[in-house]
Amino acid sequence: MSYEVVVGLEIHCQLNTKSKAFCGCSTEFGKPANTNVCPVCLALPGALPVLNRRVVEDAVKLGLATGCTIAPRSILARKNYFYPDLPKGYQISQYEEPVCSGGTVRVDTDEGHKDVRLVRIHIEEDAGKSIHDIGDDTFIDVNRCGVPLLEIVSYPDIRSVREASLYLQKLHQIVKYLGISDGNMEEGSLRCDANVSVRLKGAEKYGTRTEIKNMNSFKSVEKAIEYEEMRHIDILENGGTIVQETRLWDADKQETRSMRGKEFAHDYRYFPDPDLVPIRIDNEMLERLKLELPEFPNARAERFVQEFGIPAYDAGVLTAEREVADYFEAVVRACGDAKAASNWVMGEVLRKLKERNVPVTSFSVSPERLGDLVGLIAGGTISNTIAKQVFERMLETGDGARTIVEKEGLAQVSDTAEIEKAVQGVIEANPGQVGQYRSGKTKVFGFFVGQCMKAMKGKANPVVVNEILKQKLEG
Ligand code: ZN
Ligand code: MN
Repeated sequence: MSYEVVVGLEIHCQLNTKSKAFCGCSTEFGKPANTNVCPVCLALPGALPVLNRRVVEDAVKLGLATGCTIAPRSILARKNYFYPDLPKGYQISQYEEPVCSGGTVRVDTDEGHKDVRLVRIHIEEDAGKSIHDIGDDTFIDVNRCGVPLLEIVSYPDIRSVREASLYLQKLHQIVKYLGISDGNMEEGSLRCDANVSVRLKGAEKYGTRTEIKNMNSFKSVEKAIEYEEMRHIDILENGGTIVQETRLWDADKQETRSMRGKEFAHDYRYFPDPDLVPIRIDNEMLERLKLELPEFPNARAERFVQEFGIPAYDAGVLTAEREVADYFEAVVRACGDAKAASNWVMGEVLRKLKERNVPVTSFSVSPERLGDLVGLIAGGTISNTIAKQVFERMLETGDGARTIVEKEGLAQVSDTAEIEKAVQGVIEANPGQVGQYRSGKTKVFGFFVGQCMKAMKGKANPVVVNEILKQKLEG
């Protein structure tokens, strides 16, 4: 029998605000344990929270980007549970009236578009961290308490591991384009829980679902859902029943295991937080935030095709990351040659970034300098081959292209006399091949070009070399 998997994702996205959601403490990652704290996030008696305006703005921006309805009034609620890394004994979250609801995330699958509907996007704070891997004790670091999160809840619209992965990648791309999160999964800036069930293909009713937690990479999301899908099918095929529960993904063992029975909303005894006033979003704020939205990847790629005449595939690669698209556009501004700029960014630049594992924003060759280099090729000062050498030297030395070309004497030689001398030398040194050419084996022409370029250390203008060679060989 044939089954299909049904998946809904809950994504926690950590915002990149400077200060926490309800106090002025820094959100900086990697600080010594328990140093980014104050009476509010430590839950000392009498301390009162004040909502960070940026958190609301970021939530609205994500809501606008995904076509959500933005609530003109929403409330912050207390989600009560007891855990050592939660000093207050409750998490400030949103329950009955979230800031954003509805909306969709459009995913490009191999079969075309797929719209994954959103239930809601709400604001909440993060909890601290329990550290279990130092000796036999458990340590608590509350630096993360109060760091702002957006929780993005999808409907169970996802039907395959691939779709789940594409959806997550799309959201990652959107928050990065909006500039509201660094989207770094390894540092926990994007955390994903998955609700997974299976049913017979064509069935209307959903199967019993389990929730998987603790997936901290794109790969682990795929692996965990795949594992869970197989586990469900296996149980059903053997006449068993699925238990609704929360399961943990164990990346070392590559399996999920039971963590606790499923909790229900009433277990948390949600109620409006009496310390915080309702969030109000008026039209003026909405209009202002709409103006701050960036041009999104699809629209930008389309514009690149129209404006720069580059292929749709190239435009897709160049707009996958906002910073890469910005870099590319800056190179085009600097050199005026979009096709060459696109080849360089898609080729050499992306390759180097991958090799060095750095983001384009910290790449040592600025777009202006790459533009200069591209300009030197277009102007005939250097060939493409030499340009690649110059590019390497730019990375090593930090010098500009022009400086390197001058210092190292790499400028292309178009001087006919000098090229003629080299051509003459090559012809004299290879009488055999000359004979072949003259008897009709014109294929050896390439050999002569290669020899001439070698003789001139790659600096000869290839057009001039071709011309002179032809004259000499045929004359
Ligand atoms: Zn604080
Ligand atoms: Mn949550």
